[in-house]
This record gives sequence, structure tokens and C-alpha cells, in this order.
Amino acid sequence: MNKISSIFKMKCPQCREGDMFKKPFNFSKPLDMHERCEVCNNKLEPEPGYYFGAMFISYIWTGWLCIFTVGVTIIFLKWSIGQSFALLIGLFLVSFFWVMRISRSIYAHLDMKYNPDIANQSIHTK
Ligand SMILES: [Zn+2]
Repeated sequence: MNKISSIFKMKCPQCREGDMFKKPFNFSKPLDMHERCEVCNNKLEPEPGYYFGAMFISYIWTGWLCIFTVGVTIIFLKWSIGQSFALLIGLFLVSFFWVMRISRSIYAHLDMKYNPDIANQSIHTK
């Protein structure tokens, strides 16, 4: 699996096989992660506050989403400001948890190295 699809499928950055987040999705705990990867035993939250930096990714992501949505609807579709903000709020509600999760996934993939060999070793020494 390549890095991009691993990010979007929210897999463990080290082995790209185990899931980062617990399934099924739970609305009361939208960011409930596995403490360690089920496949390679990689620690998915190495220290408290590790994912603080992911907030900046979701901030940037959200910023571009706003500019893009409002820009396209007003300039190309000739919507009013009210209409385009209504759409924007709708998009936020739909994508909010997904954006928070994908930001953590991007952050972990930037920080942790892909290493399938370590992944295989730790399975045998577990
Ligand atoms: Zn893993």
C-alpha cells in the first residue's frame, strides 16, 4: 500500500496494515484510537499531546475548504453569500470528524517511518 492510500484509509504508518482508529465509528468517541497497532504493535500515540500538531493540519485543511467552497459557489455558480455559507456549514457538519481523523492520520504518517521489516519482527517477538 502506498503512503497516500495508507493516509486515506487511516492505517498504521509503520506497517500500513493495522487500523489507527477503532471500529465501528462511535459518535461519543470520534477520535478513539488503538493504543498500539494490532498488526505491528507500533505505539500509535507515542506521548500525551502527540496529535496537537494535527490541529494545524485540520486548520489548514478547513481554511482551504472554506476558500474553495465559497469561491466556487459565488464566482462560478453565482450563489449568494448566504447560500454559500449554508453549504459550507453543511460540509463542516458532514466532514468534521473525518477531517479530524484524517489530520491525525496525515500527521502520524509525516512523523513515523514506514518500516514493514520492524513490523514483521515485532509480530514474532510479541
Ligand atoms: Zn502497524
